[in-house]
Amino acid sequence: MLIVYTGNGKGKTTAALGLMLRAWGHGLAPCVIQFLKDEQGRWGETLAAERLDIPWYATGAGYTFTTENLEHDRELAQRGWQRAQELIASGAYDLVILDEFTYVLAFGWLALPEVLAWLVEHATRTDIVITGRSAPAELVAAADLVTEMQEVRHPYYSGVEARKGIEF
Ligand code: ATP
Ligand code: MG
Repeated sequence: MLIVYTGNGKGKTTAALGLMLRAWGHGLAPCVIQFLKDEQGRWGETLAAERLDIPWYATGAGYTFTTENLEHDRELAQRGWQRAQELIASGAYDLVILDEFTYVLAFGWLALPEVLAWLVEHATRTDIVITGRSAPAELVAAADLVTEMQEVRHPYYSGVEARKGIEF
């Protein structure tokens, strides 16, 4: 099954991590590949994954949407997709989460039709979760389950800073 969590509201990554936990609880094998996030990142979820012995790969240089080094970002993203392909094709995982992968697709860093065709062929016994804003229409059309998080209110706009355990 291909699952997409998209939209502007908060909750896309946390929804994916909820599935990770749910799968893990049943003794299934989840893993996470995080695109665009710094490899050095020590978020609550990476610490939890470490303790639960859930493989977690961060492939990116942090949030670099205004980067001078776009070529490097693109390369890291492509390397991340290669890693994802290895993990999926290994057959060792029941649930593979591609966090913030919509950006990689929306930026055209990977060819979406090729990514989708590859998943159809190889992710036969693996559920795939893709998160991130601006999911391309072709991705939405191909997915089995799509939820769009709609922002109603976010404390960021009343000056509340990111909080441990809520944002990271
Ligand atoms: P989360 O990881 O909390 O589930 P998300 O994956 O839906 O959030 P992202 O687009 O990945 O959202 O953004 C991650 C960070 O940005 C989080 O710290 C989140 O609280 C914050 N954020 C999400 N939505 C908004 C928003 N509409 N306005 C401001 N900040 C936001
Ligand atoms: Mg997210």
